Amino acid sequence: MKKNYCLVCGKSITRNEIGITRKLVDDGAKEYYCLSCLAGLLDVTEDDLRAKIEDFKQEGCKMFS
Ligand SMILES: [Zn+2]
Repeated sequence: MKKNYCLVCGKSITRNEIGITRKLVDDGAKEYYCLSCLAGLLDVTEDDLRAKIEDFKQEGCKMFS
């Protein structure tokens, strides 16, 4: 699998970070954000995003692991 990096800070990102970018920013996103940059972008905390990732996992969303 191709490695993906945060559009803002260049940090390598996880599958969950790709998933949450797609869910919260753009369904067809090809550029992704790490949790801390995404939190800044959306004006929420990283913990909020982690909670959302857990919610999506609970729903059985395949974008998350
Ligand atoms: Zn970043």
